Amino acid sequence: MRKKVYIAYTGGTIGMKRTADGFVPAAGYLEELMNNLPELKSDLLPEYRIGEYEPLLDSSNMTPADWLKIANDISSRHKAFDGFVVLHGTDTMAYTASALPFMLQGLRKPVVITGAQIPLCRVRNDARDNLITALLIAANFKIPEVCLCFGDKLLRGNRAVKVDADSLDAFESPNFPPLGTVGIEIKINWDLVHPPPKTRKTLKVTALSESRVAGLRLFPGISVDIVKNFLKPPIRGLILETYGIGNAPADRELLATLKAATDRGVIIVNCTQCLKGTVNMEDYATGTSLAKAGVISGFDMTPEAALAKLSFLLSQKWSVAKMKKMMQTDLTGELTRP
Ligand code: ASP
Repeated sequence: MRKKVYIAYTGGTIGMKRTADGFVPAAGYLEELMNNLPELKSDLLPEYRIGEYEPLLDSSNMTPADWLKIANDISSRHKAFDGFVVLHGTDTMAYTASALPFMLQGLRKPVVITGAQIPLCRVRNDARDNLITALLIAANFKIPEVCLCFGDKLLRGNRAVKVDADSLDAFESPNFPPLGTVGIEIKINWDLVHPPPKTRKTLKVTALSESRVAGLRLFPGISVDIVKNFLKPPIRGLILETYGIGNAPADRELLATLKAATDRGVIIVNCTQCLKGTVNMEDYATGTSLAKAGVISGFDMTPEAALAKLSFLLSQKWSVAKMKKMMQTDLTGELTRP
């Protein structure tokens, strides 16, 4: 029996068409192109059904409401299909891949997010290979996780970042090894893959309904007024992107501003601006002072994952203490505790 894969086609370069204004997603166009690819009819590939979203989006236009649409779409078909492919623009793919694991609790089937840097309509493209690889992985490998498949890698979704605007290997997961590699063969690192959920409960979708979160990247000379403005109510959570292993200027007014916010219950999470490595607020005075101001460590989470997680936690009805604890606990493979 051929396996069945559901393709949630949200938009992105993969299915775009050239117009006078540049590439745009066009309804029906990707399916038409796919119907003309004989290799997609091969018995070696799963049967697939395409759910084309309306409207198709350039992923730069996506919001958490679009993540919820994808999560609900997968949830309503979770039983009927062996796996899921999400076709998505590359620009915010890492954000969607970071958010979905928190939103899809009890996932038993692979969800493989992919897209392309060059659309399928071009003679030379990465769309065809990414699509076929994603279909094969979704159908044949029992990975009960949200993954991002691009170029030669299969990555854990909430560890992925877009690292290259030009390359066909545009994504990396700097703080976690790939779940799989795509070469002559597709090899899965099974010891890294999560086991299926133990309970028999059905898939539960949680909306990331808390939008009062923000990210702020420190830079030399940043004015305290900017930080104060960022932290004004109604903000509830902030991902503070700091230097190196989690350091910030030892400026008294800045630290007092942060402390006043955390005293009010704002959750401020320290993530490093470095692509690789983990926050450690114990080594330098510039880090310990952040801890004293009530800032908590984001360890080696990507800012994308930290933002999604903070929004997820703030969407629950939990105390600030519990949310802070959970923020520093690995929930879906997004964080390595030292
Ligand atoms: N702007 C496009 C998008 O994110 C880029 C891409 O798909 O590569 O939808």
